[in-house]
Amino acid sequence: MSALRSLTGRVIVVLALAALIPTVAIGALAFSRTRADLEREVVRGNLALVRALGAGLDATLQDARRAVEIGAATWADGRAAATATDDADRRATGRLLGRLGRDIPVLARLAIVDGDGRAIAGDELPEGVDLAARSFGGYVGDAIFVAGHPRVPLVVQARSRTGELVGFFVAEIDLGFVSDALAGARLGTGARVVVVDGQGTPVARSDGQPPGGPSWRGRPAVDRALGAAAEGHLTTAGIVAVFRNLASYQSLRGVRWAIVLEQPEDDAYALAAATRRTTLLVAVVALAAALLLGALLATRLTRPLAALAARADAIARGDAVGPTVTGPGEIGHLGRRIDEMAARIGERAELQAALARGDRLASVGVMSAQVAHEINNPLTTVLGYAKLLAEDKAEDHPDRAGLDLIAGEAARMKQIVAGLLDYARAGKDDERASCDPAAVARHVAALVAPQLRRARVTLAVDVDGALEAAIDAHALQQVLVNLVQNAAQAMPDGGTVTIGRVAIAGGVALGLDVTDDGPGVAAADRARVFDPFFTTKAPGAGTGLGLAVVKHLVARAGGTIEVIDAPGGKGARFRVTLPCATLDQESSRSAAAGRDTRG
Ligand code: ADP
Repeated sequence: MSALRSLTGRVIVVLALAALIPTVAIGALAFSRTRADLEREVVRGNLALVRALGAGLDATLQDARRAVEIGAATWADGRAAATATDDADRRATGRLLGRLGRDIPVLARLAIVDGDGRAIAGDELPEGVDLAARSFGGYVGDAIFVAGHPRVPLVVQARSRTGELVGFFVAEIDLGFVSDALAGARLGTGARVVVVDGQGTPVARSDGQPPGGPSWRGRPAVDRALGAAAEGHLTTAGIVAVFRNLASYQSLRGVRWAIVLEQPEDDAYALAAATRRTTLLVAVVALAAALLLGALLATRLTRPLAALAARADAIARGDAVGPTVTGPGEIGHLGRRIDEMAARIGERAELQAALARGDRLASVGVMSAQVAHEINNPLTTVLGYAKLLAEDKAEDHPDRAGLDLIAGEAARMKQIVAGLLDYARAGKDDERASCDPAAVARHVAALVAPQLRRARVTLAVDVDGALEAAIDAHALQQVLVNLVQNAAQAMPDGGTVTIGRVAIAGGVALGLDVTDDGPGVAAADRARVFDPFFTTKAPGAGTGLGLAVVKHLVARAGGTIEVIDAPGGKGARFRVTLPCATLDQESSRSAAAGRDTRG
């Protein structure tokens, strides 16, 4: 079930249904059509065979009957003329019988009797032939068996041309030829043909069994055949049977014989079964191939989506950096957009973190400013009195050294206090201000030029005004002056300082690098250089407040500052990242919102 919940599982199910439904529908339709067509064909073919066998039977019997009829008519005419002597008449009759015997190969026996049934010539009168009942002539009816050979009696009236009934020709037709015809028929597998007489007694059969035996009456096909006027077919108990009543043939009128062809259903429809098996096999193989292909396709199709989902999960966990999901069309497009989105989320998160740090620093700043303000006046007093008292003492006075030390330390404390007040003032800029960093950098270069000249330091400015920085111009100036002065101080023997702009992806922030070729900042100190009062300079030379103020100013503007190695490994690079002016209002709003929830 869980597989069904995945996109891959669902795609496979859709493909399977798409393959299965038409396969089953077309297969079922093909099966039913094939079966119906084949049933029709089997019946049609078997009926055609039955008709052909019936027609052959009819033709032979018709020939025999015609020949006997002509013989009878000729004989009756001769008799009616009665001109000849009895002897001549007997000879003529003998010749006639001989000719008929030669002309009709199926003639087993022929007797000529007079109108009262007395024998005149030929063979003995066949038993059981009731001339009175058959006075009109024709076949007597059911078969008789002479030594197991089926025969059919034929009675033909011998009438003269004037219509006078002179006698009867009573013949027996040997039906052995029917069995020969059936044996020679090309029957389908398992099929057999039986000719039955009006009683249902088999007269001839194709299966090699001797004719005769018990009646086949009671078998549906035989009963229908003997009862029906013409032909038909039926299927019962797994047997397909077609039948034709032979009475429908001209020569056999008067008898109710039938010809029946039976074939087991399995044999009759073997072709349909084979076709069904082959079709099923092909369908199963095709379906399996379709499913396999579908599964492969589904996996390929959904793999980029799974990658996108994994990417989205990683972003949700806060891991914005990851491999780009590539793919054709919409997938690739989505992958690129997710990358951009992740980049923006990362920048936004950095900016917000910076804002939060800025807020923390601001509260520390407010406190420091108050402390600085409170101790500034007493310090001024201490410094003033220390200087006053020292001035009154001679150089070698024992108090002089102590008073000078007090004045020096008080002066140093005043410097620190001034730095702290600077720090405090840094928060008072307009938060919504913006400036052109290029103009500010040029102004800074002009400001520090004399100082740098003395220190034999060259300043290169490489900043364009493509983007506005969301920071007050004075604050940015203070930041840059501090960084440039620190750089100059790090290179007592002179060197080069560069202010350059760095491109930042997404266009939401701009970066400014201040790079020097001094000794650089030791890895261990990098995290601490921005802490207030951290300095590596000699007492009196540094307060450790410069970078703290810089960081505070940058953080107030929603930016960040970090120290990295200058390219080439020599020197320090301070990178200031500031929000662009267009984003500033949004950042301020989110900062304000943050303060509101805290407050
Ligand atoms: P201060 O300059 O009064 O020491 P800062 O906060 O400006 O205070 O600097 C703190 C420390 O950072 C410095 O003492 C120095 O060790 C280090 N530093 C600052 N800028 C540089 C630089 N460009 N190269 C090497 N070290 C630096």
